[in-house]
Amino acid sequence: MIRTNPAGSRFGGLWSDLAGIGRDGRRGGYSRHGFDDADLQLREWFTEQAQRRGLDVEVDRNGNIWAWWGAPGPGAVVTGSHLDSVPGGGAFDGPLGVVSALLAIDELKVRGIRPAVPVAVVCFVEEEGGRFGLPCLGSRLLTGAADPHVVRRLHDADAVSMADAARRAGVQPEYLGADRDRLALIGAFLELHVEQGRLLHAGDPAAAIGVGSKIVAHGRWRITVTGEGNHAGTTAVPDRHDPMIPAASAVLAARRIIAGHPGAVATVGRLQPNPGGTNVIASSVDVWLDVRCGSAGDTAALVDEIVADVRIQARVEGCGVVVHRESMSDQVALDPALEVELAELLGAPVIGTGAGHDAGVLAAAGVPAAMLFVRNPTGVSHAPGEHAETADCLAGVQALADAVEGLVDGVPG
Ligand SMILES: [Zn+2]
Repeated sequence: MIRTNPAGSRFGGLWSDLAGIGRDGRRGGYSRHGFDDADLQLREWFTEQAQRRGLDVEVDRNGNIWAWWGAPGPGAVVTGSHLDSVPGGGAFDGPLGVVSALLAIDELKVRGIRPAVPVAVVCFVEEEGGRFGLPCLGSRLLTGAADPHVVRRLHDADAVSMADAARRAGVQPEYLGADRDRLALIGAFLELHVEQGRLLHAGDPAAAIGVGSKIVAHGRWRITVTGEGNHAGTTAVPDRHDPMIPAASAVLAARRIIAGHPGAVATVGRLQPNPGGTNVIASSVDVWLDVRCGSAGDTAALVDEIVADVRIQARVEGCGVVVHRESMSDQVALDPALEVELAELLGAPVIGTGAGHDAGVLAAAGVPAAMLFVRNPTGVSHAPGEHAETADCLAGVQALADAVEGLVDGVPG
């Protein structure tokens, strides 16, 4: 069926363009991170696709790419997402929103819509924070939620600074920072995204598309446990100051403590011993903790509980503990009026999400922002198994086109 559908073949065409970029042979899935080789290829691809559609492409001072249909101006209806992934991530998280935005513009042109306000497609830099550790890097810089002095000094696992990486992508790091004039142009922001989880299925198994309501508070912490590096074979247990023991307690405490906080989640997805030898007691261990809870206060309290447990274990082991908060976003409600309007227009259910998004960063900065979610049959995300059926993706494109058409007050040409 889809083979004979022009929208389907256009979707398939764009999707296959991306299929080979940034594949991760070791982890599986994709590893595409801010300004790395894969990301630069994707940015080039987006620019070419936008230009092919007659859109005017510009890169803002923070490296976010904007493709304009109509001259940039106030009241713009902006849609888009991000092109980067988590390490070993799926194909859909991010790129689906970008591909759908391009196809929604194609669809509006087929419908003969001439928007009364500018329309733009945006690709935000490093939404996942997979390279420099700060999620929603591009949108946080744009809104002023991230300090450019701090961001410039962030570095990746190979000690490449964000400033150097940006420069390599043609973005001048000295100009990073809040861009209030640009932000003021956005009349509405719509981000289409693959659903992460299965709330849509649980609420209405027939619904392929959902409308977002709120994003829970979420943050990242790095807990560094310091001990004494030593020989794994010759160091008697009473003489050990092994930082892996308190680090392990962080992993277990995260699971145990959320049991007392309904709706909260806490995850250790990354742990790095230094120096990291099989026959070596580590001298230090970094543990990254991701916590998501109802509010910023609840989230911080939960982190305190986990850290208290790590400190107890560290004292017993004769180790030190230093905690560094890498990022924190409070709970944010997407625009209530847009939510109601889109739910009515699309006949779609409304769902919340435990995942952070650029739309949430913009909403927190006062931009009317909304999200559309495309059904994910297994709910798996941030992993190679992430999936959405093509028919549902096409329904997403139609829904996004309907939503943009409803917002641009366009007249049929
Ligand atoms: Zn995403």
